[in-house]
Amino acid sequence: MSASTFTPRVFSGIKPSGGLTLGNYLGAIKRWVDMQSPDMETIYCAVDLHAITVWQDPKGLKGGTREIAAGLLAAGIDPEHSILFNQSQVKEHTELAWIFNCVARVGWMNRMTQFKDKAGKNAEKASLGLYAYPSLMAADILIYHATHVPVGEDQKQHVELTRDIANKFNNDFGVDFFPVTEPVIEGPGTRVMNLRDGTKKMSKSGESDMERINMLDDADTIAKKFKKAKTDPDGIPMDLDGLAGRPEAKNLVDIYSGLSDMTPAEVVAEYAGAGWGTFKPALADLAVAKLAPISDEMKRLMDDPAEIDRKLAQGADKARAIATPILEKTYDIVGLLRG
Ligand code: ATP
Ligand code: MG
Repeated sequence: MSASTFTPRVFSGIKPSGGLTLGNYLGAIKRWVDMQSPDMETIYCAVDLHAITVWQDPKGLKGGTREIAAGLLAAGIDPEHSILFNQSQVKEHTELAWIFNCVARVGWMNRMTQFKDKAGKNAEKASLGLYAYPSLMAADILIYHATHVPVGEDQKQHVELTRDIANKFNNDFGVDFFPVTEPVIEGPGTRVMNLRDGTKKMSKSGESDMERINMLDDADTIAKKFKKAKTDPDGIPMDLDGLAGRPEAKNLVDIYSGLSDMTPAEVVAEYAGAGWGTFKPALADLAVAKLAPISDEMKRLMDDPAEIDRKLAQGADKARAIATPILEKTYDIVGLLRG
């Protein structure tokens, strides 16, 4: 069944696997805030069960989960409008994930490029959870019958797998139960690249802090990181075609575009012919102007962890109210006996 026959509902998540980055902000959070509207139910989640697919220090994990929540609230996610919670408080996600483990095929999982990237050369030593991650992600989405998933470009393959799982479940059981969810990957910030290597994406779990802008970085750190960002000797070209084959230059223009809400063509037109000595400080000033109010609010919220926990628990109650009947119906379709 296509997503269009279901009530529109948005779901997306972020892992507490490190501090939030500018990539998370432009590729996900900013777009999640913009999608909040009276016509669309929006559900946003700190996906802590995904974080533990690689080792997380238990003391740090709770703090990291609160930091994600603070970042989302500070950026403009409104808990009166959106449902905001952490994944492990709603057990239905993992219960549906088990059903999906029995629907998804090993061959499908073997094609997932994120597993290959994250497991690296030592795939034999990767956790089984890291391998099964996309099946849990499908459950995160489909336990709410979500129709739209705003994500960065790197998650496209996992949303496509979610569609495959929904289709196979519906076919196997002869039902029209799960929607075939649409990925929403739009705008210039859907693939923010690593500042030291324009062929790799910016990641919160990346090795070096210099390769990313963290949402909690102060103004000096942001200016220093952009100043040291890898570029080439040619500055801003006269038109967009001049960015072809120049991933680092394109990335800085895209970041400016994402932060300013100008199109990349407008950014290039404004700075046509400028050197990096002009463009990089302008970009740093823009990033500070946009991020500082959010990071100040994040720090204020993180000073009151009990209040964050209370908001997440309330969000989890609302999420469970949607998820429980969908899981019960799924169990019934599969033929699992209930007393
Ligand atoms: P990790 O390194 O632990 O995988 P991450 O920075 O990739 O962390 P995730 O929690 O995996 O962050 O992803 C959360 C959301 O942010 C997803 O929608 C993802 O597509 C988006 N995202 C992550 N990195 C980028 C990026 N560099 N550019 C745009 N979007 C991104
Ligand atoms: Mg990631």
